[in-house]
Amino acid sequence: MGAHQEKKLVEERKHQNMQNDTKTSQGQWGRAWEVDWFSLASILFLLMFAPLIVYYFIMSCDQYQCSLTDPLLDLLTGKKHLSDIWNRTPMLTYRAAAIYSLWVTFQVFLYVSIPDFCHKFLPGYVGGVQDGAVTPAGAVNKYEINGLQAWIITHVLWFANAYCFHFFSPTIIFDNWIPFLWCANILGYAVSTFAMIKGYFFPTNAKDCKITGNFFYDYMMGIEFNPRIGKWFDFKLFFNGRPGIVAWTLINLSFAAKQQELYGEVTNSMILVNVLQGIYVLDFFWNEAWYLKTIDICHDHFGWYLGWGDCVWLPYLYTLQGLYLVYHPVQLRTDYALGILMLGLLGYYIFRMTNHQKDLFRRTNGNCRIWGKKPEYIECSYMSVDGTKYYSKLMTSGFWGWARHFNYTGDLMGSLAYCLACGFEHVLPYFYIIYMTILLTHRCIRDEHRCSSKYGKDWKCYTAVVPYRLLPGVF
Ligand code: NDP
Repeated sequence: MGAHQEKKLVEERKHQNMQNDTKTSQGQWGRAWEVDWFSLASILFLLMFAPLIVYYFIMSCDQYQCSLTDPLLDLLTGKKHLSDIWNRTPMLTYRAAAIYSLWVTFQVFLYVSIPDFCHKFLPGYVGGVQDGAVTPAGAVNKYEINGLQAWIITHVLWFANAYCFHFFSPTIIFDNWIPFLWCANILGYAVSTFAMIKGYFFPTNAKDCKITGNFFYDYMMGIEFNPRIGKWFDFKLFFNGRPGIVAWTLINLSFAAKQQELYGEVTNSMILVNVLQGIYVLDFFWNEAWYLKTIDICHDHFGWYLGWGDCVWLPYLYTLQGLYLVYHPVQLRTDYALGILMLGLLGYYIFRMTNHQKDLFRRTNGNCRIWGKKPEYIECSYMSVDGTKYYSKLMTSGFWGWARHFNYTGDLMGSLAYCLACGFEHVLPYFYIIYMTILLTHRCIRDEHRCSSKYGKDWKCYTAVVPYRLLPGVF
């Protein structure tokens, strides 16, 4: 394709994307320009306490068999001092640092050096070079979508090692879990600090930066929209997907291997957690191109929230069920296990179909069929800061007619299934559903606030037709 033709295509695509409702108003886009006291207080709280929360959860498994109350009771009754707990905590080791560095370097290599080949032979898979949504400054970034490939290569190597080569034990992740925590924190803080400095001094796209002047807010929520090194190394796509999400399934496999080593068997609850979370992870990579259009990529800037969150919060707290099951191997009654499997699969089905319905509707501009019928929708419009009017559509058919965020409901059902697989002895494995409920409810309200200011009275018409957010008749 000639350079002129290619440029024209990009321009057309840009225009089409805008028509397809991508928001161009800088004033309403992404994170705030002004920091209110509540946001600042929340940010300070998270900066101070989020690393401690992660440490507390992991430490309580390591030292207190996953009891969240026993460490507190020990401290309050004076049975133990903080220094006792700290002295029993495994420290950073050279070995862990070397393994972790190798892991991250390998994922960087897979991300930047091997162009996607999966889309060449997997029917229906969208990989290779794809366009992102239009950024607030009007740029359209290109992404190399090769996450599925990175995931497959990594897991093939993992199984090849576990069953053939035996270079290292599959329990390696569990065995170094706390030393790796220090490595993940170092990376998380380093990348967030680097992103902040880069945002100030050498941003990838200066027009897409937001600087509020409040150091803590800017550090937490990020300055740059899409920081990049070179043409392809995109911070948001890399850190969210790899090493965090590629690692998720490996971490679970390592926990299963530890169960096998300790008890001579892998329980059905551990298999359930591995299978259900494995489906979620594979879905993420299969739909990585779709992920470019989600709130994370389209609206959030890259700061500590994403940088540290992807390196530490996600791999450590999203995998608590597997970790818990190493300490408490739960063998579920078959009917109960099947019930959980059904709940998890139903949640996944709702999550995937709801996202798919919106994606299809928006991609075809409503010229598609939802549940065998032409979709119903509300015509809406919005204005960009330069006064240009754009038109869009809000679908009221399919799952989008049941509730305004039924995709979140499906996600929550799946999350609940992981937790239920761990039985009812401890609270710790239920952290995930509590956290996801807060995260997605907050996200729902945040998104609706944005949509309301974007579409005005049209959004009101939409909410009149679809009055509930997550659960029809309840909320
Ligand atoms: P959505 O995919 O729900 O996207 C919301 C946007 O869709 C709105 O801003 C609006 O954008 C558009 N929209 C809203 N209503 C309609 C409608 N009726 N018809 C057409 N378009 C509509 O949000 P997310 O990006 O947050 O979530 C994507 C998925 O990722 C979800 O399934 C969620 O569960 C999952 N997720 C998982 C997380 C995890 O940690 N496991 C974290 C976050 C999300 P516009 O301005 O274009 O109109």
